[in-house]
Amino acid sequence: MYIDRMLLKNYRNYSFLEASFNNGFNIIYGNNAQGKTNILEAIYLCTTGRSHRTNKDNELVKYGEDKYFVKVLFSKEERNDNSIEINYSKKEKKSILINEIAIKKIGNLMGQLNSVMFSPEDLQIIKEGPSERRRFIDIALSQLKPSYFYNLQQYLRILNQRNYLLKEIYLRKESITTLDVWNQSLAETGSKIIAERIKFIKCLYKIAEKYHKNITNEKEKLEIKYISSIRIDPGRDDIKNIFLKRLEEEKSKEIQKGTTLVGPQRDDLDILINGTSLKQYGSQGQQRTAILSLKLSELEIVKESSGEYPILLLDDVMSELDSKRREYLIENIKNIQTFITCTDKNEFIKGIDKETCFIKIENGKIVNNI
Ligand code: ATP
Ligand code: MG
Repeated sequence: MYIDRMLLKNYRNYSFLEASFNNGFNIIYGNNAQGKTNILEAIYLCTTGRSHRTNKDNELVKYGEDKYFVKVLFSKEERNDNSIEINYSKKEKKSILINEIAIKKIGNLMGQLNSVMFSPEDLQIIKEGPSERRRFIDIALSQLKPSYFYNLQQYLRILNQRNYLLKEIYLRKESITTLDVWNQSLAETGSKIIAERIKFIKCLYKIAEKYHKNITNEKEKLEIKYISSIRIDPGRDDIKNIFLKRLEEEKSKEIQKGTTLVGPQRDDLDILINGTSLKQYGSQGQQRTAILSLKLSELEIVKESSGEYPILLLDDVMSELDSKRREYLIENIKNIQTFITCTDKNEFIKGIDKETCFIKIENGKIVNNI
């Protein structure tokens, strides 16, 4: 999968941008606050329909304007004239077009233009709370399997309604038997989500462990485990039944608290190095290395499932890796179209021997594109 061209209108600090890219490395360089990340963000927007930095489309519209336009043209499988176009106006709804045809649901966008973003903020996957880790899994899985995205949306709707009902039971003594119906749909949809996540984490772990071993000269063993709030034994238990059992166990506590206490919305990942928690005991460098292994592994999983590598977006990460890890990364992304942002282009010339395009950005404009 390769992006050939991109058009931006009134997007962030770009009034108008037209850029061509090559299939190898695209080094986007320039001083701070010139618009480098904005380009990566626009590509990511075409992957998931959302920015990786904000959920608010209003923030993406150039100051003083009332709409933005983003279009990427890309080659995929045999076809080289695919396009994704996003139009947003503060007054109207956002519209997304795939190959010039408007889509009805955001889910239709999933899996069209696959990309993997790797930025310094990804350290939050390790450092922050469980929601960051769930977000990582959910975004990766939604790209791999649009049905996962639909299930997740449905699950969140059921969860909201069930939480509302729990409050009603507590406050207005609404009949408790209605809860059983909601338990059934919650467990039905939720168990599919948990099953997909367990499968994904298993694959991710298998590949990431190998990468990690190589990067650390076999000194460190990376482990990733899915920790479910319904306490299942993956592979052995019938997830739906255990889910229902756990809902029954937590019933009175849930009514008191007015919220659902078990299910995929409460699950987490345990990431360990040589048996100890990476979050609690890992150094910054160890955490970064683990994320690097996870991202490299994600690239392979997308390749395995879709037949093509996704686009790799590296925002400011090169300068954060030591030279050995940087070289390892470059070595392992040889066949992947990669967008790299940095402030000093000379940093990368060493070690890069494939086709490279250098794009200098200054104040929302390309000042050279060679
Ligand atoms: P750094 O090297 O610091 O990461 P960068 O080149 O990646 O910088 P970006 O994050 O791409 O910078 O762009 C930041 C610039 O975009 C800032 O100058 C910011 O003020 C501007 N900006 C952000 N949102 C908007 C917007 N909606 N309208 C106009 N300008 C915006
Ligand atoms: Mg930036």
